[in-house]
Amino acid sequence: MKNVYLDNNATTKVAPEVIEAMRPFLEEFWGNPSSMHAFGGQVRRDVDKARAAVARLLNAAPGEIVFTSCGTESDNMAIRGVLDAADGRLNIITTRVEHPAVLSTCRFLADRGHEVIELGVDGSGHIDLADLRKALDRGPALVSIMWANNETGVVFPIDEIARIVKAAGGIMHTDAVQVVGKLPIDLSQTPVDLLSLSGHKLHTPKGIGAIYIRKGTKIRPLILGGHQEEGKRAGTENVPYIVGLGRACELATARMKEEIDRVARLRDRLEQGIIASCPDVRVNGDPKNRLPNTANVSFEFIEGEAILYDLNDAGIAASSGSACTSGSLEPSHVLRAMGVPFTAAHGSVRFSLSRYNTETEIDYVIEKLPGIVGRLRALSPFVTA
Ligand code: PLP
Repeated sequence: MKNVYLDNNATTKVAPEVIEAMRPFLEEFWGNPSSMHAFGGQVRRDVDKARAAVARLLNAAPGEIVFTSCGTESDNMAIRGVLDAADGRLNIITTRVEHPAVLSTCRFLADRGHEVIELGVDGSGHIDLADLRKALDRGPALVSIMWANNETGVVFPIDEIARIVKAAGGIMHTDAVQVVGKLPIDLSQTPVDLLSLSGHKLHTPKGIGAIYIRKGTKIRPLILGGHQEEGKRAGTENVPYIVGLGRACELATARMKEEIDRVARLRDRLEQGIIASCPDVRVNGDPKNRLPNTANVSFEFIEGEAILYDLNDAGIAASSGSACTSGSLEPSHVLRAMGVPFTAAHGSVRFSLSRYNTETEIDYVIEKLPGIVGRLRALSPFVTA
């Protein structure tokens, strides 16, 4: 078998329906939505339709959605834009397991004199809400906590977190890049002020994202220029990609319920298959509160990268939590923050599924893995017996 793609938290296959929706805006409707003439008016309506589709998926108002280029831009805009617009100085509260789009932004701001509090996590990847309350006691704050972790799939109790933040008078941003399209979101119930999302995690091409900004939230634009996006994000709109994101959100809205069940069943089949056939494995994260598509598995005593190479040779794409930097293998900051032991953190592999995976593919992975793991363990300096 060739090409089993289990790296959907990195990026996803573009849905054929999305390509079909985008095509007319490359070939036929290429007007500028800001133009007064018919070429512009035509596409303006389609941009608005896409905005409404994004809003519907989040149960928000279309006027609260601003299109960006990606999740990273949305995260930067949320954090830097809110600080820039604040009357006084705000502390920043975040977690040690955020994506670099948030962590690097917060650390950049810490270098510029902002008070940044990074909350730690327990072994299952969760923050202690008492730590959050204590951090909020230190003064007015912008809180940026991800809805779900990209490496482990751990889903944070964002409802509860947002309520705590709002009760303390804070501003709440959540990086929902891994959640939008995978789990239901209802922003009429969850009181976050800002939310980031990224198209290429829900089957659009790379290069489109959005930020939800609750009505009344004070924010300055990150990108200055023209009056696009109600003055919140300058630059001529990326119409084909915006239309693509709208279509992807329609598909997610229509299929979410059925896909959650189907994908979770495949993920569980994979996980159980691995546990049954490979000794010394552990599943990282919180098995009860997890994205339906994600399994982060540690194979003790071997390097995740080595497994990935061999999986790749077998046509299987997954990813590891480790990053190979200057010859030394640094385990993932997420697994380190969770206190995952050294030998397990190094051997972690993330399998992330999508609507396009099949049972046959999962069974193929289960068939291939034990041989790969056994061979690598036989070579491992950490295995003595
Ligand atoms: N936040 C999370 C949780 C992510 O997983 C990612 C991408 O992996 C991003 C932000 C960045 O999104 P983008 O690739 O669209 O910039």
